[in-house]
Amino acid sequence: MTDFTMQKDADGVALITWDVPGKSMNVLSMDGAATLSGLIDDALADDGVKGIVITSGKKDFAAGMDLNVIAGMKDAGGAQGVFDGVMNLHHLLRKIERAGMDPKTLKGAKPIAAALPGTALGIGLELPLATHRIFAADNPRAKIGLPEIMVGIFPGAGGTTRLVRKLGAMAAAPLLLEGKLNDPAKAKSAGVIDEVVADPVAAARDWVLNASDADLVKPWDAKGFKMPGGAPYSPTGFMTMVGASAMVHGKTMGVYPAAKALLSAVYEGALVPFDQALRIEARWFTHVMMNPSSGNMIRSLFINKEALEKGANRPDAPDQSVRKLGVLGAGMMGAGIAYVAANAGIEVVLIDSTQDAADRGKSYSTGILDKGIGRRKMTEEKKAEILGRITATTDYAALDGCDLIVEAVFEDVGVKAEVTKRAEAVIPQDAIFATNTSTLPIGDLAKASARPEQFIGIHFFSPVDKMMLVEIIKGAETGDRAVAKALDFVRQIRKTPIVVNDARFFYANRCIIPYINEGIRMVGEGVNPTLVENAAKMMGMPLGPLQLVDETSIDLGVKIAKATRAAMGGAYADDAVDEVLFRMADAGRMGKKAGAGFYAYDEAGKRQGLWDELGANWPPADDQPELTEVQHRLMFAQALEAVRALEAGVLEDIREGDVGAILGWGFAPWTGGPFGWLDMLGAPRAVELADRLAAQHGERFAPPALLREMAEKGQTFYGRFDKTAQKAA
Ligand code: NAD
Repeated sequence: MTDFTMQKDADGVALITWDVPGKSMNVLSMDGAATLSGLIDDALADDGVKGIVITSGKKDFAAGMDLNVIAGMKDAGGAQGVFDGVMNLHHLLRKIERAGMDPKTLKGAKPIAAALPGTALGIGLELPLATHRIFAADNPRAKIGLPEIMVGIFPGAGGTTRLVRKLGAMAAAPLLLEGKLNDPAKAKSAGVIDEVVADPVAAARDWVLNASDADLVKPWDAKGFKMPGGAPYSPTGFMTMVGASAMVHGKTMGVYPAAKALLSAVYEGALVPFDQALRIEARWFTHVMMNPSSGNMIRSLFINKEALEKGANRPDAPDQSVRKLGVLGAGMMGAGIAYVAANAGIEVVLIDSTQDAADRGKSYSTGILDKGIGRRKMTEEKKAEILGRITATTDYAALDGCDLIVEAVFEDVGVKAEVTKRAEAVIPQDAIFATNTSTLPIGDLAKASARPEQFIGIHFFSPVDKMMLVEIIKGAETGDRAVAKALDFVRQIRKTPIVVNDARFFYANRCIIPYINEGIRMVGEGVNPTLVENAAKMMGMPLGPLQLVDETSIDLGVKIAKATRAAMGGAYADDAVDEVLFRMADAGRMGKKAGAGFYAYDEAGKRQGLWDELGANWPPADDQPELTEVQHRLMFAQALEAVRALEAGVLEDIREGDVGAILGWGFAPWTGGPFGWLDMLGAPRAVELADRLAAQHGERFAPPALLREMAEKGQTFYGRFDKTAQKAA
């Protein structure tokens, strides 16, 4: 069995079908590319073949390149290996594009068309772009585009060069720089594909049998080709390139090597003939691949994220898919959890203490679904079906038959204990009970349960429908089946799980709080707040610490600070943070929801600049720190805490630590996560920097013993702790 097979019919059409054995979605491997190349040679050489149609044997066309293969090219052959691998793909796709054409007369090519039954991403679109005409099935669920930038690379198999020459740099920009995906109808109006039809294979067959020589000449292979939208040195092209550079820098702050390299490939490629442009594209692609950032991003955002979603850390237990879910508390979190579950086809009972509150919780789903209808992503029938799955009530008897409960009532041990008992009185003996608490130890809450081995934490992030991470927390007594149930539930609602052990603030909040605190502490020290916020963004954090605490609210910060102080007593080391935080709260500046925090907000709640009285309250020091000093404080505050979580056994798998950090609180994605970042620095350098920070700013930066030991032994986190590698060994 091979990835591509070919059938020739009596009319002279060679149908090449891509169908990778044993996978639900096609991905391209180097072996697959070699097979395809052989089939194309065969069909071009066969006089009986008049035209070629390339399609898929699956419901979709292809998901792209096998990213494991790209990572492998780098491991095996370094920069030369990557460059040679990419040039091989260019030769193959160029062979398809030229299809035997005489370069002088531009005649004699054989028509080649692509027939896409569904989704076509990455090289799954770059291959069709090299054919002469692209037919897609009229399938609104299909996604068509080049999402490479999302995992830290860019389309490097001709997608960049072809799309820019097809659409012009301006129109290609959102597709290349943002990885924007379109359904077939939109892809057609954007000019990415040519036809949307009921039966793409039949339409493609007809087309190849009737195509003329002129249909087979790509504009860039014809004489006098002019770049759509203008070449870089034309007045319009110049504006585009300058604007794009500014936009990319504004969005990425210069920390994502792929976006910069992509722009360089576009700009330099546009100045030279097509084949040279492909070579330039391959060089920049290699450059990006050799940057550790891209390897780390691929590892965390693609390979490990997928491994966790597929249950890399699932205990061995029979399928625990949820059929009927009970949600206790229909507030902000409960309403969101009910929505994502109902949307995934699960029946939901949504309980609150008054019918009004329960109904309000359900109407949250109505709101999201109506927005979907407005955007034509949802239909009235589908909306009715999803809402029909949610029963909003005050009656605990309705929980009868629920196999999973997620509790999201007030953050109060007593209230949570009461609802746990009331629910357990009704639900089946073997049901699993989960709490969405963000601060209370799972072990303490499990005391209210008659079945602590069936009690677990399932911690969602707000807003539930948008945030992709779910943190699953094992209490000391939590059993394997509860973990499997939580993981199966997270898989059903299509989110990414991490599994951690019970400890103060679990994993994500444990790391994000020191980040926020470090920012606030610096304000108190007289560091310019603008420097704090910009330093964070220039390090690739989506939000500066002051904006983040405004979003999560100052009063929540105060509440957490008070509870932490009570729990830690004399060991509490954040007085300097509290001095600032409590003064903000006393001034009524509770953050975004109050329309006043570290930032000012207009009447409509839109964030303006930083509050102009910050300087009067905490006068800026005459001597401001270096940018990198501020960045190191903000980054180490998070990364050292992640190491402590690993050291303490809260984290059991660094893959979860890295994926969880990016998805949970936006830890600078270009690093691949805190462990990826520390590996990039190297343990000796990380220890040296942390020691220096500790000497200047306090013991909170003292390197954990584990990091010191790794520095001495010359180890990396992924060398020492990578479970993928351990399993393979
Ligand atoms: P919320 O105040 O919006 O909602 C709580 C809901 O529980 C309210 O509707 C309330 O009426 C209901 N409730 C209270 N007592 C009840 C009872 N005895 N029976 C039934 N319903 C009752 O709070 P929230 O922000 O949705 O938080 C809920 C839980 O989720 C808390 O444990 C919180 O720590 C946790 N959490 C919150 C966030 C967040 O960002 N807000 C994030 C993760 C976890």
